[in-house]
Amino acid sequence: MTAPRLLLLAPTQSYRTDDFLAAAARLGVPVVVGTDRCHRIEETFGEEQGLWSLDYRKPEHAAEQIAAAARQEPIAGIVPVNETTAVIAALAAERLGLPWNPPDAALRAADKAAQRTRLAEAGLPVPAFRAFRLDGDPEAAAASVTYPCVLKPVVLSASRGVIRADDPAGFVAAWRRIERILREARTERRAAGAEAARTVLVEAFVPGAEVAVEGLLRGGAFELLALFDKPDPLDGPYFEETLYVTPSRHPAPLQREIARLTGEACRALGLREGPVHAELRLPPAGPVILEVAARSIGGLCARTLRFGAGISLEELLVCHALRLPLASLQRERRAAGVMMIPIPRAGILHGVGGLDEAKAVPGVEDVVVTAQEGREVAPLPEGDCYFGFIFARGEAPAEVEAALRAAHARLRIDIRAPLPMV
Ligand code: ADP
Ligand code: CA
Repeated sequence: MTAPRLLLLAPTQSYRTDDFLAAAARLGVPVVVGTDRCHRIEETFGEEQGLWSLDYRKPEHAAEQIAAAARQEPIAGIVPVNETTAVIAALAAERLGLPWNPPDAALRAADKAAQRTRLAEAGLPVPAFRAFRLDGDPEAAAASVTYPCVLKPVVLSASRGVIRADDPAGFVAAWRRIERILREARTERRAAGAEAARTVLVEAFVPGAEVAVEGLLRGGAFELLALFDKPDPLDGPYFEETLYVTPSRHPAPLQREIARLTGEACRALGLREGPVHAELRLPPAGPVILEVAARSIGGLCARTLRFGAGISLEELLVCHALRLPLASLQRERRAAGVMMIPIPRAGILHGVGGLDEAKAVPGVEDVVVTAQEGREVAPLPEGDCYFGFIFARGEAPAEVEAALRAAHARLRIDIRAPLPMV
């Protein structure tokens, strides 16, 4: 028997694995990485890193695999990295007797329609919505909804396939485009099952500024870790996320209301432990909840956050999962932000120039390009990967925002049409 370890549940292609492993190393915590495809990740981490190959397509089965493996190598806590693994973590934690989210709460949070229904039942503000099956008639559906609306497949994430429609013609075009996107998204379709893969949600378009909430649940109590403004308008037709800047510049009472609603939403969903990432819109009548997820912020965006004496979000989450003492949940006093670098067009990435100039902008801490040269990239609604990230820190949010924009303006992104096949 070895010492109890942390189980990190990461998809093979996760951007976050390195940051979580670094956090565990700083804390001196032994880690097992659970993943759905072993061979690739083995090359990255070497054989000394514990690795469990799990069947992510069947969450119940993956949880059984974890429970069986944990009988040989005890697990003291689980950190899931994304939505899929959040459900597996809940199922596995129940089997291992670890305090975590109840599986039905994790499932409810991961299902866009079930989540909306539950939040609406609890009297919380969510967009009006209806679910349609993609094998139905789009013209009939288009005639039955109000405009503007937003169409979104239930099985995708990161704004993939999310499209605004202003009239029936736009609705039918969006519908067809989502069908095409889903046809390509084989992995997601398989993971979600046939019924979900054929479902599209149609929601009332909620206008106004958008914010992102990063929080932590401990024993059912919600604590706000950071509130991010998204200073670029997200009015569609596609919803590419760019800037995240914290602290928020919205009035303090509105910020408190956003945190309160997020906590209420977690309670309504039944979530109790671990990270929460939520998105809300701020129309004049008051905040509307777009999404509450039982995971932490995506991509490399967590690198903007530091707590207490400088610990990372990943360290905080590892400590929480292992029930180690948490010194402070107080974010640093300075402002911080990230730009998720927009993908200007579809094609083959030939290179990115101006990286040194961008990094030299005062306040900019790092520029990381995650897209690979020689590979195809595509903007939303089709795109399924982050291009890269610019990180900045400063005294005030406006300064951070300006630094991120200035750095972005210095990048020369070279994307070219693929050569025709011969
Ligand atoms: P995903 O799970 O792919 O992130 P979301 O439901 O969070 O899907 O939608 C992605 C983005 O699309 C949101 O952050 C928001 O900018 C926009 N969006 C989604 N639904 C609505 C809506 N009903 N009204 C206005 N904007 C929306
Ligand atoms: Ca979202």
